[in-house]
Amino acid sequence: MTLDPIEWMREFAALVDENADALTEFDAAIGDADHGSNMRRGTAAVVAALAESPPETPAAALKQVGMTLIRSVGGASGPLYGTFFLRAASACGENGLDAAGFAAVVRAGLDGIVARGKAEPGDKTMLDALSPAVDALDESVRAGEELVQALDAALAAAEKGRDATTPMQARKGRASYLGERSVGHQDPGATSVTLLIRAARQAVR
Ligand code: ADP
Ligand code: MG
Repeated sequence: MTLDPIEWMREFAALVDENADALTEFDAAIGDADHGSNMRRGTAAVVAALAESPPETPAAALKQVGMTLIRSVGGASGPLYGTFFLRAASACGENGLDAAGFAAVVRAGLDGIVARGKAEPGDKTMLDALSPAVDALDESVRAGEELVQALDAALAAAEKGRDATTPMQARKGRASYLGERSVGHQDPGATSVTLLIRAARQAVR
C-alpha cells in the first residue's frame, strides 16, 4: 500500500479549509491572525496546480507542492512548509510512499525545516508536533508495520506533541515576541502540521 501525494494534498486542503478559523484563532492569540488564511491560500493553490499540470511521479508531485507553497503561503510558515516538501521530493524514491518511503520523505522534510528555521524541540513550533510524528513513523517501520498502522501511530504522536505546545513559551517566530504571554495557547503551526499528518492517514484507504 502506498500514499498518493495528490490524494494527500486533497485531504490536506480540505482539512485546512475546515479548520482555517481555528488556525487563525490560535495565531490571533500569539501571532498576527493569518495562519488560517495563509494555509488556506497555499493548499488551494497546491490542489489547483496539481490538477492543472498533473505530475508523473510522486517525487515530481512533492516538488510541485513545495514550489507552490513557497510561492503562495507567505509568512514564516510558507518557506518552512515549502522546504519540507522540496526536501521530501529529493528523498522520494521510485517506489513511492509506502511506510518506509513515507518515513524517509518526512524525515528529510523535517531536517529541512530545522535547517531553515533553526528551531529546537520545546520552542513551541510546528516541530513539536512533526518531530514526534516522524519518530513514531521510524519506530513503526523498524517494527515492520504497514503504512496504515504507521500513520495511526504518527497521528497520535503529532496530536500529543501539538497539545504539549500549549504550556510552552515560544522561543521562535512571531510568538516569541510575547515572551511569557505566549504560554497557555496552542501553537498554530503545530496545529496545521498535525492536519498534514491526519491528511496522510485519511488519504490511505
Ligand atoms: P507568521 O508567523 O509569519 O505570521 P504563520 O502565522 O503562517 O507565519 O505561521 C506561524 C507558525 O510558524 C508558528 O505557529 C510556528 O509553528 C511556525 N514557525 C515560526 N517560526 C518557526 C521556526 N523558526 N521554525 C519552525 N516553525 C516556525
Ligand atoms: Mg501568523
